[in-house]
Amino acid sequence: MTQASDLFSQAKKFIPGGVNSPVRSFSGVGGTPVYFDRAQGPYVYDSEGKRYIDYVGSWGPMILGHADPEVIEAVKQSAEKGLSFGAPTEIETRMAEKVCELLPAVEMVRMVSSGTEATMSAIRLARGFSGRDKIVKFEGCYHGHSDSLLVKAGSGALTFGVPSSPGVPASVAADTITLTYNDSDSVRDLFAKLGEQIACIIVEPVAGNMNCIPPENGFLQTLRDVCDRYGSLLIFDEVMTGFRVGLHGAQGLYGIKPDLTTLGKIIGGGMPVGAFGGSRRIMGHLAPLGPVYQAGTLSGNPVAMAAGLKTLELICRPGFHDRLTQQTTQLLGGLQQRADQAGIAFTTNQVGGMFGLFFSEEKAIKRFSQVMQCNQDRFKRFFHGMLEQGIYLAPSAFEAGFVSAAHGDADIQNTLDAAGTVFNSL
Ligand code: PMP
Repeated sequence: MTQASDLFSQAKKFIPGGVNSPVRSFSGVGGTPVYFDRAQGPYVYDSEGKRYIDYVGSWGPMILGHADPEVIEAVKQSAEKGLSFGAPTEIETRMAEKVCELLPAVEMVRMVSSGTEATMSAIRLARGFSGRDKIVKFEGCYHGHSDSLLVKAGSGALTFGVPSSPGVPASVAADTITLTYNDSDSVRDLFAKLGEQIACIIVEPVAGNMNCIPPENGFLQTLRDVCDRYGSLLIFDEVMTGFRVGLHGAQGLYGIKPDLTTLGKIIGGGMPVGAFGGSRRIMGHLAPLGPVYQAGTLSGNPVAMAAGLKTLELICRPGFHDRLTQQTTQLLGGLQQRADQAGIAFTTNQVGGMFGLFFSEEKAIKRFSQVMQCNQDRFKRFFHGMLEQGIYLAPSAFEAGFVSAAHGDADIQNTLDAAGTVFNSL
């Protein structure tokens, strides 16, 4: 049994910051990251054997809970037949068929290995299809770390984005325009000025990377309308929301059809998978059918397809998402009640099995600017208090939380008991 602090020190010698993805380092909350050793159902177990109720779910994929026996069995069976062939396999077609069956706006789909690859490729396809370079995104939405998407709003100008990381060329960032999520007027204004130069809008239909912010009434429809009017493509980045907020994604839930959809997380069941899809007309521009190039050595990897397809099959069970939503509602209702009892200013957002917690006096959190004003210090203390009590929340005030189908009533109750104690201690 090795302590997390020892493991972290060793890791820092060989891995930048000790982690392979920055948010894992606990830089948002302070302290040493927990090292997980194994996970089962709603629980993760650390390197010292302590059990936590997990509301991160590997950042979204584990909608069935961890190590679901049927998913594990599918992976084992696939692995025994060989790990990768670099040639077509039947399961890729079964997976594509399933995605097209479930998502209203997807007629053809290409598999990749991460959400970043999915959005990067979708942007290239939108640019290649439209013959335009400019793209629109929203502040606080995250779409992976490709150059065009690692961009924030430039000061004062609607027209030029600026890199949000060194290494992103200013010339690339200049083609990304960043607007305010849930601000339909700014979208209409921009399109009135520049609509004919815009290849696409990319949006998280429910924002999950600035905590959890649902779209306001009419916002997604406005995006659809301006894209139709100016011949731009609408990309729903459903890497997080796909199969999470409902079986048919956010596009099914809100009844808005995007031109392209990007996927990740749940579609891989915990294995590294992403995908992007859309109408036959647009996807037909992708190599080898068309001129827009995109490829991947491990794309459609059979073991990853086995995990993802089994996960998709299992979440198609009748009532699956209704129950997930109910469990999440029960969790959030209980948290609100305990925060109120403790006199802590607190509010929550929820869409299906996805939620956000806000330490704020405001009751309705709809904008990025409101998220930025939440009490970060309180969040950090809440996070560490809950961790101590065996509840694992996302180690950042800017991430959505996730409930899985494996979270039973007793797990929710235990979480609420812990929260009662922690709220009182804040
Ligand atoms: N899009 C969204 C909406 C995401 O939440 C994420 C990751 N959290 C990504 C894209 C990038 O996916 P990945 O980390 O698999 O590259």
